[in-house]
Amino acid sequence: MPATVPDPPAGGYHDNADEFRRRGHELVDWVADYLARVEDLPVRPAVAPGWVRAQLPTSAPQAPEPWEAIVADLDRVVVPATTHWQSPRFFGYFPANSSPPSVLADLVSSGLGVQGMLWSTGPACTELETHVCDWLVELLDLPARFRSDGAGGGVIQDSASSATLTAIVAAREAATGGDPTVLARLRAYTSDQAHSSVEKGIRVAGLTAGQLRLVDTDADHAMRPDALAAAVAADVAAGALPFLVVATVGTTSSMAVDPVAAVAGVLDDVDLGDGRRPWLHVDAAMAGSAAVVPELRPLVNDGLARADSWCFDPHKWLFTNFDCDVLYVADRAALIGALSVLPEYLRDEASESGAVIDYRDWHVPLGRRFRSLKLWFVLRRYGAVGLAHHVREHVRLAEGLAARVVAHPALELAVPRSLNLVCLAHVDGDAATQRCIDAVNASGAFVTHTRLAGRLVLRVCIGQTRTVARHVDALWEALAAGAGRG
Ligand code: PLP
Repeated sequence: MPATVPDPPAGGYHDNADEFRRRGHELVDWVADYLARVEDLPVRPAVAPGWVRAQLPTSAPQAPEPWEAIVADLDRVVVPATTHWQSPRFFGYFPANSSPPSVLADLVSSGLGVQGMLWSTGPACTELETHVCDWLVELLDLPARFRSDGAGGGVIQDSASSATLTAIVAAREAATGGDPTVLARLRAYTSDQAHSSVEKGIRVAGLTAGQLRLVDTDADHAMRPDALAAAVAADVAAGALPFLVVATVGTTSSMAVDPVAAVAGVLDDVDLGDGRRPWLHVDAAMAGSAAVVPELRPLVNDGLARADSWCFDPHKWLFTNFDCDVLYVADRAALIGALSVLPEYLRDEASESGAVIDYRDWHVPLGRRFRSLKLWFVLRRYGAVGLAHHVREHVRLAEGLAARVVAHPALELAVPRSLNLVCLAHVDGDAATQRCIDAVNASGAFVTHTRLAGRLVLRVCIGQTRTVARHVDALWEALAAGAGRG
């Protein structure tokens, strides 16, 4: 600490409006320049662990730093150590889409700085969210019971993981009615291809991993309804209480789609008492966005009429930057009943009128950002037509890549292409597949792997905002060169 504390500048240390405006314009320019050149950078940075921290002083500054020094460090420290998710050559994991309207809406959200825990702490934040969620029900042709003007409704969460956790807690409360003695008897079901967030959610919800059954999948890696029925029947015979199934529409590894209608049929044979059925949650994290394309709806929306909850991530494939997951429930009372805790200091006239939504009761945190702004900007700026065009185009590019794989003598599809994901392997086995992965990644593009039926698989996920045919062509060249025997 300095021996003496300097006198503060007149007006304190805050940047004034002119300074904010000037730096804001500069930084919007910086982001625009970054996005213009990101395709020329290798997607993965060439830094060793610890490199970033080694560039930074060990202590936070005592005196205010000039803006120039701060901005210069974006180029010196941040960009060289960034994995460029916004590169059109990013084909790994799943996309983390962003777009100009989305980025600018997030800037506005930060500027407004609203904390929308209650309707009264942000009427626009709350009502815009309700409205945009209702818009999406229509836009994606989801069941009307997810709309807020019936018993259901939508809410924006930070991630599909949180949405699934929220659904698990609601399902737990619906099954136990708050009676803790029932907890140990609960059993949940998901496929052996489901995302790890399901098991994590089960554990966070106070159950054990042993209370989650991983149901066998078929040759296409989709949940087998007969295996689900057998697992449920065995548990019921043993005195357990099947309370939840999490079905996946678009698994992470291979974009498999569980047969939601058949899964629902299995659940309809289970009676939790008073005619109540186990909760059906559908995780459509990436694939849900495909419903913006009418001809893809039969694949991704099948069976949803029976779902108690459904979530998808606009932050994956709907051009809305992280974080933005939308969770719908058919019965909001079950969700609110599970999560509502009302201390005196949050009591409020508008809430007590019953005429408003307080989203604090719809997820784990109390506080919430104004996330609906970015969805609102994106939906308006692209229109349904624009969104469908780009999603359809990604699927078309995946189709074209899959056809090239099929025609190549040394490569084969590990599973049929589904939506925007191509899973392939080298016919000579895992070592050769690994060489293909290495060849693509050495080219500056980026793919990741999975294992399907024990086999190493190269995944190509096509969904980045700015990916067009020439990026997939370049990926194919690197892949074919790595595969040999062309
Ligand atoms: N569910 C599925 C099917 C996914 O593919 C993913 C992402 O990998 C998730 C859930 C988790 O998404 P989030 O990062 O939004 O929690």
